[in-house]
Amino acid sequence: MKIPFDNSYVNLPAQLYVATPPTPVPAPVLISYNQALADDLGIQGAPDLAILAGNAIPEGAAPIAQAYAGHQFGQWNPQLGDGRAVLLGEMIDHAGLRRDIQLKGSGQTPFSRRGDGRAWLGPVLREYLVSEAMHALGVPTTRALAAVTTGQDIARETLLPGAVLARVAQSHIRVGTFQYFAARQDLVALRALTDHVIARHYPTAADPAALLDQVITRYAQLIAQWMGFGFIHGVMNTDNVSIAGETIDYGPCAFMDGFHPSQVFSAIDRQGRYAYANQPQIGAWNMAQFATSLIPLMPDQDAAIEQFTAAVNRFGDIYLAAWRAVFAAKIGIFDPTPEDTGLIQTLLDLMASERADFTGVFAHLGSDTARDQFIDRAAFDAWAVDWKARRSNDFAAIMAGANPRIIPRNHQVEAAIQAAVAGDFAPFHAMLGAVTQPFAPLTQATARYATPPTSAEQVTRTFCGT
Ligand code: AMP
Ligand code: MG
Repeated sequence: MKIPFDNSYVNLPAQLYVATPPTPVPAPVLISYNQALADDLGIQGAPDLAILAGNAIPEGAAPIAQAYAGHQFGQWNPQLGDGRAVLLGEMIDHAGLRRDIQLKGSGQTPFSRRGDGRAWLGPVLREYLVSEAMHALGVPTTRALAAVTTGQDIARETLLPGAVLARVAQSHIRVGTFQYFAARQDLVALRALTDHVIARHYPTAADPAALLDQVITRYAQLIAQWMGFGFIHGVMNTDNVSIAGETIDYGPCAFMDGFHPSQVFSAIDRQGRYAYANQPQIGAWNMAQFATSLIPLMPDQDAAIEQFTAAVNRFGDIYLAAWRAVFAAKIGIFDPTPEDTGLIQTLLDLMASERADFTGVFAHLGSDTARDQFIDRAAFDAWAVDWKARRSNDFAAIMAGANPRIIPRNHQVEAAIQAAVAGDFAPFHAMLGAVTQPFAPLTQATARYATPPTSAEQVTRTFCGT
């Protein structure tokens, strides 16, 4: 396994990271290797278990733990950082894009605080399944390159098998990375970080103001895409917001089955701060924190506050336009106008009133079985009259590309994890195959992944990886 490293973050000021090797594990076993991703990246050769487990440091790697801070559930925490991950290094992929290769669950770092630096098998498999599904759905996301078990049990509420995820991202720089240096008034580091991010992710941005505008646009579009697939991130803390606009840090995330705007899965989100329908508002709040962290870089801070406030206030309109485009495609409209918002909202309201299956409704919409997704068929029929008058001529083709048959349903993710903990990885592999072909016609092997859970099968709570 040859990773052509080309590291740049380690050339930034020393305050941004701490050189930290992964901690070896006793008996690693490969669960899964993403050969297609490895090929896209230009990683050659067979997977090297020792590298993927953190037992060997590959040639050219310069492992570091990155410093960052963040607002967690709205509460400022000045000191987070990679507590259970190390960045092995960066490489340039076939498309010329710089990508990070990180090990998650790879042992303690100077940022571990009281944590063991490890991950158990459940969150590793969840992130693998959900991030690869997200990629297949066309949503910007970190990727899963490999997962290994470590041969070491770790203590959570019970002893659980440890695992390491090898993760690939455009970068692991977060809103919280900017906050860390802004809060310390370390302008040298903040400026170097900003220049790095502009060069790496936003090369057309001439200054921090333009960077802010572009990050806001990408993040608003990302959240609109989440909404279109019924995805609930679960922990939209500022330390879990990628500056590159990728979905990152899959913790207690889930895709909804029965639709309701107030749906929450995360067991620790008791107030519903990160509920489905709150995600756009939280997105704007997170961008306000990013804007705040850029203010110290501006020569005229009063003028910058005014300018950045206006930029953050544009988040809502950018999001709404993106949301409308996403949902218009889901109902077969290729040229959405503001008037279509009502048509979309009426359908969503009807779905919410019955907790209709989010993925199922849209997957069936163009077919004879559409009305069977509803209890109040007359209400659906009434909506469908308006819809048929409005939808585009090639609605079926538009919808086929926008509405997956298969998303990683929470009860099936949980079942795959439980089987794996008991030593059977077949359900994980079968599910991975299905969720990475979300738009493909169903087959005998994949039909079960399109079926919503019965009320007895429903899994309505998810837990953090910690
Ligand atoms: P997360 O829940 O992944 O967003 O993590 C929040 C913070 O807690 C980050 O700084 C993590 O690195 C840290 N953290 C989470 N789990 C552990 C662990 N088991 N050991 C050490 N640090 C951890
Ligand atoms: Mg995190």
